Amino acid sequence: MQQFDMFINGQAVQSDSTFDVINPATAKVFAQCQLGNASHVEQAVSAAKAAFPAWSQTTDEQRKQLLHEVAGAIEANMPELMQLVTMETGKPMGGLNGVGSGMEVGGSIAWTQFTAELQLPVDVIQDNEVARIEVNRKPLGVVASITPWNWPLMIAIWHVIPALRAGNTVVMKPASFTPVSTLRFVQLASEILPPGVINIITGPGSVGGLITGHPDVSKVAFTGSTPTGKRIMESASGNLTRCTLELGGNDAGIVLPDVNVKEMAPKLFAACFHNNGQTCAALKRLYVHESQYEEMGQELAELAKNVVVGDGLEEGTELGPVQNEAQLNIVQDLADSARADGGRFLSGGKRIDREGYFFEPTIVADLTDGHRLVDEEPFGPIVPMIKYSDIDEVIERANRNECGLGGSIWSSDLDKAAALAQRLECGSAWVNDHGALQPDAPFGGIKQSGMGVEFGLYGLEEFTSIQTLKVVK
Ligand code: NDP
Repeated sequence: MQQFDMFINGQAVQSDSTFDVINPATAKVFAQCQLGNASHVEQAVSAAKAAFPAWSQTTDEQRKQLLHEVAGAIEANMPELMQLVTMETGKPMGGLNGVGSGMEVGGSIAWTQFTAELQLPVDVIQDNEVARIEVNRKPLGVVASITPWNWPLMIAIWHVIPALRAGNTVVMKPASFTPVSTLRFVQLASEILPPGVINIITGPGSVGGLITGHPDVSKVAFTGSTPTGKRIMESASGNLTRCTLELGGNDAGIVLPDVNVKEMAPKLFAACFHNNGQTCAALKRLYVHESQYEEMGQELAELAKNVVVGDGLEEGTELGPVQNEAQLNIVQDLADSARADGGRFLSGGKRIDREGYFFEPTIVADLTDGHRLVDEEPFGPIVPMIKYSDIDEVIERANRNECGLGGSIWSSDLDKAAALAQRLECGSAWVNDHGALQPDAPFGGIKQSGMGVEFGLYGLEEFTSIQTLKVVK
């Protein structure tokens, strides 16, 4: 059984008790982690606070260099990190459309390298004989990073690397379902970065709350559910701590009647089912025009029946299990409600009879807005295919949802599709794609999907405050 320690001030730290980490492909414990407590929070925040003055004074070049070394350490340990990601999340090493732990670790390297190279510009507002006014970006101090279980390593990187690049120090708390790849990453980073610059505590959500509500924390980066995001904002409000919140999504994808069904179906299937639907910006409400509804349903059902579901460690697996039993129960409950609402199951609908938390890839036709499977985010391998006849009406229906993370239009008429995509109420809109993220393009939600953006210069700026400097001549 592998044991993983916390890291505070560059040192491995143990607690007096541990908790188990389960491999969802077997439902068996494969690792144990430390159950952190309030005293570990105090130690970690004070280590990060003490490290901040020196770290924030390092030059851009020094921080760039060190972050490239961190990227190199991830790369050098890629096979081990991939295995840890697969064992804790269940996702395949390769996966449907290449979405698996290889992409998660590879993406972590790419994001680190790209973000290391970003440079915060100085904005000169005025420079004449009277005065020079410039706007500088300064690091905030200690950043708290709270991460979920669906992309544990990648999302930790998304929080931590821009925070460090901008000159902040960090205290992290990963999801209790999936802490191990993040712990291994911090161990590697601790061998490169000065003590106290990166710290990690494991333990329950309440430990996360102690970090986000701590008066010495200047910024919270959170990815996870909308209810927890709201609790975090409440805990941060006492100190007016800034928050970036990347929360749940229930993204609509609208297929216009001009598509080639056979060509589009595999792309739509991958957009819905990659990572088993456990991605914030996966396509979760699929609107198909009535003229192509039955044909599209048949194509998607065929793909669902043939996709290879299994243990992510086995070669050729395209979809793994649902990450945890509670989430599996949510998926089963939504499938049951879809059945009760008159949904027509084109594929799947039930748990797979084997060890682990497996669920059949499920596509349900004949539901509409107002049914639970359409209105609620399932975060698992089940997708409603919804019929529409009028484009203006379907845009309005897509926007009626309380979430606003992503959305997509699928069409052979790119101009028309781009114009329609801009009418979707969401932070990211795609044409003929969905959930495609990259390190230089900002990503974030509106409405109940959160606030603030990540990635690129826009994302980096969120880890800074503005200081306006006026020099009178
Ligand atoms: P949660 O929001 O419950 O947990 C996310 C992280 O927050 C975990 O590290 C958790 O710790 C921590 N946490 C829990 N309570 C607190 C608190 N009061 N203060 C600070 N930190 C806290 O999400 P889950 O991981 O359970 O996922 C549930 C739902 O979230 C999914 O069904 C999905 O809808 C949504 N989700 C959205 C994601 C996105 O990218 N937008 C990603 C993942 C999930 P611990 O694990 O110890 O409880």
